[in-house]
Amino acid sequence: MTDWALLDHEYLMSTYSRLPLVIDHAEGNYLFDINEKRYLDLFTGLAVNILGHSHPYLMNALATQAERFLHISNFFYNPPAIRLAKRLVDNTLEDGKVYFCSTGAEATEAAIKSIHKWISRQEEPKEGIIVLKNSFHGRTLGALRLTRQPGIYQDFPTLPISIYEVNMNDIAGLKDICEKHHPAAILVEPILGAGGILPLTQQFLETAQALCQEKNMLFCLDEIQTGVGRTGTLFAYQAYDLKPDLILFAKGIGGGLPLGGIIAGQKLKNTFQPGDHGTTFSPSPLSAALGNAVLDVLIEQHQLEKGKEVADFLWSELQKLQRKFPALIEQINGRGMMIGIITTLSKTSIEQLRQEFLENGILINITAGTIIRLLPPLTLTKEEVTHFIDIFHQLLAKME
Ligand SMILES: *Cc1c(COP(=O)(O)O)cnc(C)c1O
Repeated sequence: MTDWALLDHEYLMSTYSRLPLVIDHAEGNYLFDINEKRYLDLFTGLAVNILGHSHPYLMNALATQAERFLHISNFFYNPPAIRLAKRLVDNTLEDGKVYFCSTGAEATEAAIKSIHKWISRQEEPKEGIIVLKNSFHGRTLGALRLTRQPGIYQDFPTLPISIYEVNMNDIAGLKDICEKHHPAAILVEPILGAGGILPLTQQFLETAQALCQEKNMLFCLDEIQTGVGRTGTLFAYQAYDLKPDLILFAKGIGGGLPLGGIIAGQKLKNTFQPGDHGTTFSPSPLSAALGNAVLDVLIEQHQLEKGKEVADFLWSELQKLQRKFPALIEQINGRGMMIGIITTLSKTSIEQLRQEFLENGILINITAGTIIRLLPPLTLTKEEVTHFIDIFHQLLAKME
């Protein structure tokens, strides 16, 4: 039999440590390995497969578009992309406009460039973007400047993009920067994803938005992980009643294909002119067709509401577990299908826990060292929740 691990090691640069699994196919909420063992997928390709795998409606949309054309370039009008842009705008910033790219990091790059284009048009001096300590905005060099996670940006050249770093939920610190300097923008994740599923408070977000209005700054939200239904609303900010100037999205929107972008409101929607920015491949008509199918399922077929109901059940079951094992489960953070479980377990024990979940046919993710990150699909069923909780209960009882 082919030794995929050996070949991987020999021919692929080692940028990720892998789980000991070779996936043969995927269906619904499960991955199947080459030994036909099935795994309940509770991290969905890192927040990408928001509707699980090979969803029939998405597969149909993909096949239909594939018969028309796969790629046409930006020289032509691209109906699936235009339709998707309109629907994104209709559901977020009315009168807004969309720029499409393929990945999250590229969405951040587009945000950085459009913020700087805006700066160049302001009469008063503006400099710098306020970002959070421990933020994650991507790994290309521009995005990396805004990513403030130690261990990720060291060893690489620093682009001269001015930033100010503030601790999450530190309102005094945020005000202080805005008093002393003339920042152009605040860019934050409503819930820090890679940083450990840590939500910003309503008060911090409202203060950030108010400061932006007061001081002519841009209020920008990285919804690359929190967006597309992940937290129970189409975008996370909608639960806080905010109105950002810029929304970054990627991950879930393409239904498994690469698609990302930014949605800009009044202040930023006309900053880019032909020649200012662009890329050959995006928006891929295939990705855009899937994006439309994702919105059909989430909105028209009410998967947002259905997913929210199962997420509520998952939360209440997890909270029961926490009450049973207070010495092991310290805190549960996040919202909807974006859950971070802070445990008292050491790095070794958490690795062992992940291994035991794997043996029991359940895939979980660990982030920020020891935080259990769950990013289940919105198609998760209550039966699957109960099964996961049963296994989790057994494993915790063994560890106590
Ligand atoms: C994943 C992620 C990114 C980067 O997206 P890529 O597609 O991996 O480049 C940026 N911001 C947030 C909040 C993310 O979760």
